[in-house]
Amino acid sequence: MLLGSIEAGGTKFVCAVGNKDYQVQDSAIFKTTTPEDTIGQCLEWFDQYRDELAAIGVASFGPIEIRQNSPRYGFITNTPKKHWADTDFVGPLKKHFDLPISWTTDVNSSAYGEYVLATLFNQRVNSLVYYTIGTGVGAGEIVNGHFVGELGHPEVGHIRVKRHPDDRDFAGICPYHGDCLEGLVSGPTFPARLGISGRQVPLTNHVWDIMAYYVAQAALDSTLMFRPDKIVFGGGVVSEPFLKKVRREFQKLLNDYVDVGNVDEYLTMPLAKNNGSATIGNFALALKEMNE
Ligand code: ZN
Repeated sequence: MLLGSIEAGGTKFVCAVGNKDYQVQDSAIFKTTTPEDTIGQCLEWFDQYRDELAAIGVASFGPIEIRQNSPRYGFITNTPKKHWADTDFVGPLKKHFDLPISWTTDVNSSAYGEYVLATLFNQRVNSLVYYTIGTGVGAGEIVNGHFVGELGHPEVGHIRVKRHPDDRDFAGICPYHGDCLEGLVSGPTFPARLGISGRQVPLTNHVWDIMAYYVAQAALDSTLMFRPDKIVFGGGVVSEPFLKKVRREFQKLLNDYVDVGNVDEYLTMPLAKNNGSATIGNFALALKEMNE
């Protein structure tokens, strides 16, 4: 038996098959072009495993329709991404493979992957928040094993934060809100602020302190709203040295108001290596879908 995973991102789709222990057996990457082409390439790739495939988990960039009773369940909805607005995603999969298919956001799947891995690592984790800070910013939230969000999924990337005094001149880059969290800390803010990519900005640059201040506020808000067992940070912008700065700012802002235990264990990098949280989450959600 094999479980399938599709991680649909704005620049690439990652397809994988894995066993019931969530170990990847094979994977492939396809460039995100048009829905027909990219979803078509995924289906063609999964065809070679048709006989063994038992269920597929899909994690998609959004916004997406997650209400099971909606006629547009399984659609990518009003994304600004060219070609992809109002795209039926689950429909073509169901038509091609008559299998259980789970459907959620990329960050929800990553959150679920980290939740499952925490259990495998014998950590006591019932509630978890997963932030991705990369091309965009978003978060998935699990409370007592369930995703937060019934009518729609959370859009934590667009919360408001208090501006850093040294960052007042930067307008932010979110096309909807300017200086929301995503508008201030996503990867493309580096070229917008400094004219160079994040990879070229040394950790000694003050911009990292400013970003840590914003990310710490997001962690504080998640703590005050959900008090999860831990908050995980993934995505291309995040590194352990950056997270050290975030923890420092977080402790200043929290000011011992809530006991979160060891902050190094509370605000952490993903347990999954190489950005693999979503794939593991997809396998686990596919298996869950199959058993329901
Ligand atoms: Zn925004």
